[in-house]
Amino acid sequence: MIPGARLVLLGRQGAGKGTQCVRLARHYVIPHISTGDMLRMAVKEGTDFGQKAKDYMDAGELLPDDIIVGIVAERLARDDTSRRGYVLDGFPRTVGQAEALAELSADSLQPLDVVLDLEVPEDVVFQRISKRRVCTDCGTNYSVDSPPRYDWTCDTCGGQVTQREDDTEEAIRHRLDLYREQTEPLIAWYQSRDLLAAIDGLGHPDEVTRRLIRAVDLRTRPGRALNR
Ligand code: AMP
Repeated sequence: MIPGARLVLLGRQGAGKGTQCVRLARHYVIPHISTGDMLRMAVKEGTDFGQKAKDYMDAGELLPDDIIVGIVAERLARDDTSRRGYVLDGFPRTVGQAEALAELSADSLQPLDVVLDLEVPEDVVFQRISKRRVCTDCGTNYSVDSPPRYDWTCDTCGGQVTQREDDTEEAIRHRLDLYREQTEPLIAWYQSRDLLAAIDGLGHPDEVTRRLIRAVDLRTRPGRALNR
């Protein structure tokens, strides 16, 4: 079986992280860990924590670092991640979270292989997110330009496809501002630790996947990547 990998995917909201993480997870046979999906699940379950998370998410605000780090630490402690690795989607989002992840990785002697920065310009992602529609049950993404076949009913699971509550124009602008302020500094942070690979996120999703896999293989299996 293909060796696993420990990956982080950075990129603005709407850069295609979710789609690409699913593909990387399938390719390397590793769990896809999306903090946004974990939080949406908690909201759906209606727990007290879910209600608190919803308030932050609806306002387009980040949850406090200690809360989100606790959730990720618990998930990374499970067997599947220690055996195969993971692809992290939506985490870390602040330098504080990156520092916490570095500590967790050092404690478990499982360092990151590579941090992939999926580059898509702000005006392009803004257009994409405004058009985005999502299945409330399974999370499959659609767009007003390519809706499900029947009346906003998910092609995959039959769930209802709607606009995310945090995908209003004002909330999108606010999240992009937050990304610039809080998450973009991570690019230099990881670059200085020689962990960053910048990947052009424009073009057909299959082509973007090939670029990502090549960048991961270059880090983890250089011989194989160069023979492609
Ligand atoms: P996403 O689906 O990744 O865009 O996440 C949706 C929302 O969940 C974000 O706007 C935040 O409110 C919250 N969230 C997800 N990941 C994090 C994180 N690493 N740190 C803080 N808040 C997060």
